Amino acid sequence: MARESKFRKPEQREFLVAQVRARKEISPNFVRVTIGGPALASFRPMGYDHWFRLFLPTAKGLRLPRRTGGLWMAEYFLMPKDTRPIGRNYTVRHHRAQGTYGEGPEIDIDFLLHENADGTLGPASAWARDAAPGDELGIYDEGITFLPPVTTDWRLLVGDESALPAILGILASTTDDLRTEVFVELSHPDDAQCADTRDGTTLRWLTRPKDATVGETVLTALRAADLPGTPGYAWTAGGQKLASGVRRHLVTQRGFGKDAVTFTGYWR
Ligand SMILES: Cc1cc2nc3c(=O)[nH]c(=O)nc-3n(C[C@H](O)[C@H](O)[C@H](O)COP(=O)(O)OP(=O)(O)OC[C@H]3O[C@@H](n4cnc5c(N)ncnc54)[C@H](O)[C@@H]3O)c2cc1C
Repeated sequence: MARESKFRKPEQREFLVAQVRARKEISPNFVRVTIGGPALASFRPMGYDHWFRLFLPTAKGLRLPRRTGGLWMAEYFLMPKDTRPIGRNYTVRHHRAQGTYGEGPEIDIDFLLHENADGTLGPASAWARDAAPGDELGIYDEGITFLPPVTTDWRLLVGDESALPAILGILASTTDDLRTEVFVELSHPDDAQCADTRDGTTLRWLTRPKDATVGETVLTALRAADLPGTPGYAWTAGGQKLASGVRRHLVTQRGFGKDAVTFTGYWR
């Protein structure tokens, strides 16, 4: 049983070491890295927006904290800089109990290769771009944040491309036909993927104009959208400004209670 709090955390967590099995460019800005290895046998897929912390090796190799629970972070920050692994957050795009590239379970991770202002890539994007079979990484399971109340009448999902894996995971895990309104903002229309949608779901792919700030396009569409008059449950993630802007709009203009909006700034 997973532990229930504001978010749903896995019952047991430990640092797992996995290996890259495959890497594939799946769309203009996304690379899919498939990881596997015996340690993943203890990873319990939870569906929806299941996310984990990903740790990348330094030039000295992959060292991971030994403590878990509330103590690992203190140990992590006490590690010398040259051995402290680079940590970033990612989503389980697919989990397969039996791998397609090797024996045992596999996880697909969809990395958005976003550029910094100077045209370079952040460490996680650069790692994914160059990932090769056998490369090691560490993961630490964090569970899910998508937790609608059972009484909700409708659902709203809003995000940018960094939230695409989570939104697709939520849609694929949904087992009912409740009205679900989805807004996804992308920089390139070909980054859209096949979505597992049920009756009752309306999915809008929105392309961001070249000079627009991330989130502007989706917020404009959301403000203009004909949505149910009574508040539902909303989940939003992506750039910090997008997630907080969506929440502000829903609370101040659409009558949502603050507890009815799960929002996460995936990046700043
Ligand atoms: C719970 C959770 C789940 C996530 N799942 C995914 C996922 O499945 N796939 C995915 O691609 N991302 C995901 N993200 C977002 C990802 O963690 C960040 O984008 C992360 O910063 C990327 O690390 P980096 O090393 O490439 O860049 P960083 O070194 O962290 O950032 C470098 C620069 O790029 C900017 N930047 C960072 N992310 C973005 C972005 N998405 N778009 C534009 N500019 C950006 C930063 O502001 C910074 O200036 C998730 C985040 C969270 C919190």
